[in-house]
Amino acid sequence: MPRERKEIVYQGTPVSRGIAFAPLHIVARGFAAPEIYTIPPSLIPREQDRFAAALERTKEQLRNLRSQIEKISGEEEGRIFEAHLMVIEDRTVLDRVDEAIAERHQNAEYSFYAVIQTFLEAMRRVPDPYLRERTVDIEDVCKRVLRNFSAEPEEPNAEQPDHQHIMVAYDINPSDTAAMDRNHVLGFATEVGSTNSHTAILARSLGIPAIVGLQNAIFNLHALAPAIIDGYTGKLIVDPSEETRKRYKELQQEKTRLREALHELRDTETITTDGRKITLSANIEFEHELPLVSASGAEGIGLFRTEFFLLENEECPGEEEQYHLYSRIAQSVKPHQVIIRTLDAGGDKVPGEPLSEPEPNPFLGWRGIRFSLSRRDLFKEQLRAILRAGAKGQVSIMFPLVSGLREVREAKALLQECIEELTERGVEFNPDIDVGAMIEVPSAAVMAEEIAAEVDFLSIGTNDLIQYTVAVDRINPRVSDLYKPGHPAVVRLIQSTVAGADKAGIWTGVCGELAGDLLYLPLLIGLGIDELSVGTQQVPLINQAVRHLNYAECQLLAQACLQVGESREVDALCRQLAEDSYPDLLGQISSQ
Ligand code: PEP
Ligand code: MG
Repeated sequence: MPRERKEIVYQGTPVSRGIAFAPLHIVARGFAAPEIYTIPPSLIPREQDRFAAALERTKEQLRNLRSQIEKISGEEEGRIFEAHLMVIEDRTVLDRVDEAIAERHQNAEYSFYAVIQTFLEAMRRVPDPYLRERTVDIEDVCKRVLRNFSAEPEEPNAEQPDHQHIMVAYDINPSDTAAMDRNHVLGFATEVGSTNSHTAILARSLGIPAIVGLQNAIFNLHALAPAIIDGYTGKLIVDPSEETRKRYKELQQEKTRLREALHELRDTETITTDGRKITLSANIEFEHELPLVSASGAEGIGLFRTEFFLLENEECPGEEEQYHLYSRIAQSVKPHQVIIRTLDAGGDKVPGEPLSEPEPNPFLGWRGIRFSLSRRDLFKEQLRAILRAGAKGQVSIMFPLVSGLREVREAKALLQECIEELTERGVEFNPDIDVGAMIEVPSAAVMAEEIAAEVDFLSIGTNDLIQYTVAVDRINPRVSDLYKPGHPAVVRLIQSTVAGADKAGIWTGVCGELAGDLLYLPLLIGLGIDELSVGTQQVPLINQAVRHLNYAECQLLAQACLQVGESREVDALCRQLAEDSYPDLLGQISSQ
């Protein structure tokens, strides 16, 4: 049996609640992992021999390549293979692979791959750019060795393991998170990332426990090591002791019990103790979340992020395909409404179309309504599809990332063109569809009154509003401490947005992650927010929290928060009211 290891706890930032038990699967940047399997102790020498044979084959190929290239291009060019040869002749690497095979009883391919990965990670961090660039050589030679494990070279297996695991990676992008197989990936942990990245948002909506910011963890981890992920406190516990396992099993049962108890109450009205009604709706990214929307007790969908559906394949779905999807969603949430947000490409999500080179500042670049207004045909296809789905249920449109009046007016003018085109075509659609603007750029919050006069509702995207107000990249862990939801400037911008909407006689919602944050909930209610849209997992919790709040007290809190100068004062005021109002619910979101 593999040698018993001592429990090690790695601390990161929790971004998606939940607890899972599974072996680790480590994902390297650059290339796919080979198949992993356990070998009996009697086969250790055979695996070590297979490794030696693969190295020999690789060396021979590299020497041949060197002499061919030298003949064609000269000695200098041939020297590149010298660097490759050095990697596979490095004793430290070779010894670590032999040790890994012997200690962890894993096949030679995987042991080699895992060892090389740790070297790659180390090299990616060195300050010397020349050395950093050499990682490409190491990746190259690693792929070659992997192919040489079989006599008939083939590409390494790009499949994800087909067993349940906790995925650990330097980073995982939103589209890979979206594609995760929930039956196999029981949790994930990354070295970088932050709470408000789309990767984290997706983890929450998929209900996958997740941790980010596990700095330098990969270097020390072993593939297939048993582990526990604690998405409440941000711990990754590797090789947990019996005692830890037992404690976490009990905690997991307790959390399931509490979640079920909350679910029982989900059909109660979302109303404060003094009678203020709040509309509580759900954020979704995928059609397969629809059953979760109704099961959560949400009153419809306050934000359908369409970019995952529109950009998941190379070809963007056309009007018909979009119309069918939007109609299915509208029918599923009837009699409630679905707010369909038009494409919000870019930022940390996929760009609207392939770019010849990455944007230097994607969050300040070609994203949201800016992309749509510059790709009018694409935009109008989406608008027509939404208008047509409007005949099938309660559908509204919402424009992302508007920075001022002009964009809203331009988008509305295109909507009007679509209305005329559909009238001419004689198809069924809703010409009186409600139109909303997202307030997620400070300039739009300042202009809220004017924007409100043009639309039927405002929905505050706090994820972006906070990052743009305090100039902190929402996905950069280095500055995540400065990402302050309670910054007085954010509080004032939310207040002026609500005031602008009130003047125009329209409602204001919040669909950013702040809407599901128990600490700031009293503040949002006190500032006069009418609607909250949160991930489906959060709906029952927020429903109960609102039912414990007193609107008059929340208003006093909001007034106090508008007077103070620092975010920690806002935080302290909010925490006090949250603790006084729902101490038990706050206890449920921590694991201790
Ligand atoms: C937001 O910015 O708060 C928001 C809801 O939009 P997204 O997270 O998709 O940028
Ligand atoms: Mg946004």
